[in-house]
Amino acid sequence: MNEYDTELLKSILVSKDYEFTTSEDEAEVIFLNTCAVRENAHSKIYGRLGELKHLKQKNKKLVVGLLGCMSQNLRGDLDRSGQLIDIFAGPDSYKRIPGMIDSVLDTGKRAYDFSLSEFEDYGDVYPKRVPGINAWIAVMRGCDNFCSFCVVPYTRGRERSRSVENVVGETQKLVEDGFRQVTLLGQNVNSYRTNGGDFADLMQAVAAVDGIERVRYTSPHPKDFPEKFLKVMAENPKICNHVHLPLQAGNNRVLDLMARTYTKESFLALVEQIKRTVPNVTLTTDVIVGFPTETDAEFEETLDVMQAVEFDSAFMFKYSERKNTIAYKNLADDVPAEKKTERIVRLFDLQKANSLKRNQADIGKEEVVLIEGPSRKNEDEWMGRTDGNKIVVLDKGDFNRGDLVEVSISGASANTLFGTESTAN
Ligand code: SF4
Repeated sequence: MNEYDTELLKSILVSKDYEFTTSEDEAEVIFLNTCAVRENAHSKIYGRLGELKHLKQKNKKLVVGLLGCMSQNLRGDLDRSGQLIDIFAGPDSYKRIPGMIDSVLDTGKRAYDFSLSEFEDYGDVYPKRVPGINAWIAVMRGCDNFCSFCVVPYTRGRERSRSVENVVGETQKLVEDGFRQVTLLGQNVNSYRTNGGDFADLMQAVAAVDGIERVRYTSPHPKDFPEKFLKVMAENPKICNHVHLPLQAGNNRVLDLMARTYTKESFLALVEQIKRTVPNVTLTTDVIVGFPTETDAEFEETLDVMQAVEFDSAFMFKYSERKNTIAYKNLADDVPAEKKTERIVRLFDLQKANSLKRNQADIGKEEVVLIEGPSRKNEDEWMGRTDGNKIVVLDKGDFNRGDLVEVSISGASANTLFGTESTAN
């Protein structure tokens, strides 16, 4: 979402005749667009602010702006940064940034804008994207779920959805700009709803745009998977058969404390329904270990669910407190650091074995791969993705970036499939 928001801001600034440079010494204004979801993202920004301090000492006129969720959530703490940060703005304030730059340059005083909107969806801004294969489109913003560990409802405000026509219009432009795949984005993307339809209707309308080959979405919540949506996924060949289904924890008491609104049993029943309805589905997930008060026995239940489902891959994190969340206010971060490490290592090991097993099961299959570009490790090989979003590395044949290529899968590691072209489409 932050990458997408940066594309929005670039478009807003270009419309005011700003130009971009990759040289910090040349820049008159530097923005950091921040994420507040994990501690790691915070630490990176504190590191970058330290580096910018030196730059600002050399160039007193440099304007530094801190944007996005961390700015929104930690404004009080960051405000004590001396004179380093000139502009603080949250995710709903991007359209006012050109005026804030002018104000800082005119007055020398800091500018702030943390207003959250019930309506701002940036549907009237066409992001300035880097040309490529995949384009992100934020179809809804904000979140009303208030999971107890998560800061998003406080930093991005209430849920609001763009109209189906607006999203379809942007998709048509994307095709003209050469994109072949769109990924529909939202904090809780499958709670998308407008008078013109629900998320299943939106996915179908986007998939019907001429020239779009693949449609993906992220990140959904398990509470919003009606049968209608799963059937649309199963029946529409352009909607990719990949479901990211965040588990977070496998014990009902912990899930309740997290305010996730499902139980281990209902989660497993949903997994069965998805596997039954969507053929060859790829399943991925998110897990947090060491949530406050989580016991060893409760963590074992998370491992049990991971073993039962056999996700294709997973994002796994140690719990870290996020200021202003319900868990931060009500629960002590009481699982010792070494215990969190021990748990995440066990989880990594289990997931690695499951990923390898799931990938090895693909050996011998034919997969249609959308070519994204050269492989990172070897320029002489291509990298692309299957419909299920698995990375495939293959020899360079007579095809190009953006082609759909039929590939025979001949090898697998835990993270990558390897193959050779069978017949080009
Ligand atoms: S649904 Fe996702 S974005 Fe919303 S509060 Fe829960 S974890 Fe955060």
